Amino acid sequence: MKNQKRILFIGAHPDDADILCGGTAIKLTKAGHIVKFVSATNGDTGHMILSRAETAKIRNKEMAASAKAGGLEYEILPHNCGLEASVDNRREMVRLIRKFKPDVVISHRTCDYHPDHRATAQLVQDTAYVGMVPHFCEDTPIPDVAPVYAFTYDKFVDPRPFRADAAVEIDSVLEEKLKMMSCHKSQFFEWLPWADGDKDIMSRKLTKADKHELLLRFVERFKGAADSAREWLKKIYGVRKGAKVVYAEVFEQSPYSRVVSREEFQKLFEP
Ligand SMILES: [Zn+2]
Repeated sequence: MKNQKRILFIGAHPDDADILCGGTAIKLTKAGHIVKFVSATNGDTGHMILSRAETAKIRNKEMAASAKAGGLEYEILPHNCGLEASVDNRREMVRLIRKFKPDVVISHRTCDYHPDHRATAQLVQDTAYVGMVPHFCEDTPIPDVAPVYAFTYDKFVDPRPFRADAAVEIDSVLEEKLKMMSCHKSQFFEWLPWADGDKDIMSRKLTKADKHELLLRFVERFKGAADSAREWLKKIYGVRKGAKVVYAEVFEQSPYSRVVSREEFQKLFEP
C-alpha cells in the first residue's frame, strides 16, 4: 500500500488505547494502515476480587481480543503495575519504538492523575530525543526518520490544559469502538464500575443493554474532546459536519521530537 502509515500508541494499561484512540485506530486499520497498541504494564492491580496473577492473565486475553476486533497489533510489556521511569525501562521503550519504526508515537501527558500513566508518559517522552542518539542502545538500529510524538486527550489543567492540534471524528465508528472496549470485560463491566462506587456490580447479571450503557457512560467522560477541537473539526470536516461531531479523539503534538505543521500532524491520524 502506498503511503502506509505506522501508528504506535503506548499506554500504561491494556484498556488505555481503546479509550483514547480506539476510533482513530479502527479508521486507520480499515484503510490499510498499521496500528499497534502497547500496554506498558500488565494491569495486574486493577481488580477487587481476582488475584494479581489472575488479573494479568485475563488482561492479556482481553487485549488480544480487542486487538483482533480492531485488526491491529498489540503487545503487553512484562511489567507489573507500579511502573518506574528508569533508564532500563527507557532502553526497552527505545528498542520497541526503533523496531516498530512508527510515523507517530502516541502516549499520555506527564501531568496525568495515574502514576502508571505518568511513568509511561515520562518513559515515552524520554525516548523522543535519545531514540535518535546512536550510542544509546547501540544494539538496535536507528530509523531514518524520527517519529512525530503526540499526546492523547485529558482533562487536566495543571500546569496547562490539553491542546487539540489534531482531531478525528469517531461518531461514524462509535459502535465498533464500543465493541473493542467490550473485550476488556474485567475493566468496563467489573473493575471500573466497582471503583466508581457500584459495589454490587459482580452480583448482577448484566444484559447487552446494560453493557452498552456502561461503555457509553465511559466514553461520555471524554466528550469534551470534540469541543476542545470544535473550530478545527469545522475546518477539517466542513462547518456543518464539524459543528455536529459528538465524539472525537484529539491529539496534541509534542515539541520534543520531529515537529511538523498542524496540517501534516492532522494527516498522521487520518485514513
Ligand atoms: Zn490506564
